[in-house]
Amino acid sequence: MSAPWTIVGQGLAGTCLAWELWHRGVEFRIIDRERGGSSRVAAGLINPVTGKNFEPTPRVAEFLAEALVFYQTIANLLEGEYWHPLPILRLAADDREWNKMLAKRERPDVACWLANHGAPHAIDGWLGALEVAGGGRIDTRAFLDASRDFFRGRGIYQMEEITRSGDTRLIWCDGAAGLIGGRCGSHRCAKGEILTLHASGWSESHIRIGAGGWLVPLGNHRFKAGSTYEWDRLDEKPTGEGREKVMAIARRLGGNADIGILAHEAGVRPILRRSEPMIGPLDMGGWMFNGLGSKGSLLAPGMARRLAEWICQGIGPEVGMRYRHQRH
Ligand SMILES: Cc1cc2nc3c(=O)[nH]c(=O)nc-3n(C[C@H](O)[C@H](O)[C@H](O)COP(=O)(O)OP(=O)(O)OC[C@H]3O[C@@H](n4cnc5c(N)ncnc54)[C@H](O)[C@@H]3O)c2cc1C
Repeated sequence: MSAPWTIVGQGLAGTCLAWELWHRGVEFRIIDRERGGSSRVAAGLINPVTGKNFEPTPRVAEFLAEALVFYQTIANLLEGEYWHPLPILRLAADDREWNKMLAKRERPDVACWLANHGAPHAIDGWLGALEVAGGGRIDTRAFLDASRDFFRGRGIYQMEEITRSGDTRLIWCDGAAGLIGGRCGSHRCAKGEILTLHASGWSESHIRIGAGGWLVPLGNHRFKAGSTYEWDRLDEKPTGEGREKVMAIARRLGGNADIGILAHEAGVRPILRRSEPMIGPLDMGGWMFNGLGSKGSLLAPGMARRLAEWICQGIGPEVGMRYRHQRH
């Protein structure tokens, strides 16, 4: 009988894959060095229409449907609650951005995500806003901690740092650490800083996105605000400069209020060229699952399912999928 698989890294990638193997009855263990990683820092935001260009994420309907079923299945099993749906207000700060959003709201692949047939909202201090439906946030830390407890309780989770490579039974889900270490050649990993805030006067009805950042209500007057993008210093240390930048975003999106900082964290997003996730076998032996970029909450479950099918049944990605893989 062959040795069990070892998943290296218990972030979103490794954990979603662990659940896919668990449901298939495959023998595996999952290990993590319990130092750093971006999944526990992330706001967990899922937003179907994103970025400066107000574009839908490729195949978002398919990946979102799969992700929601996945998280709900695990929530039922672990008696937790990880998915918190909330409408999104996408705010426009200038004419150029607003005109782009107004033009795109007519496109069927954008219109299908807009609430109230794309009717604009008037918000003080902004040119306008559109409400995006279907979004929300995953409580990534609760999901990861409960999953870790589950696997640890069954003796298949271990704290360990793996340094050797080349073992054909290793599945590298080691996030930015692996990419910075050179696993896939060039990368575009980006550090991000995030604040957890307390503010009593801010609206909690919507996630707000604009001014190059976001403000995500957590309930009880608490919010996550982010984020910065930094490509040169890829450490996980919060900085004064980052704090000021995120505070400025939070104030711009939330408005004036008495704000208390509850936490200030930093992580590094694992980003590959074209910002596409990557799964597949490695030339050096073993497999990898990486490159979730800024969309780990949305993409990890669907990518994990595809990788599990590939590993267990030899079924590789369908032709024309917008994700890449390495060849033997
Ligand atoms: C500030 C910030 C905000 C973000 N907000 C969002 C958001 O709102 N929505 C969203 O979808 N995404 C967001 N992201 C992106 C998201 O965090 C990533 O897409 C996702 O977490 C990547 O998951 P991963 O499992 O690939 O990597 P990681 O979460 O980094 O996991 C890798 C794991 O591997 C472990 N590890 C590494 N090397 C080894 C080794 N040699 N041996 C053992 N263990 C090892 C690490 O300890 C870590 O736990 C954000 C990121 C940042 C930095």
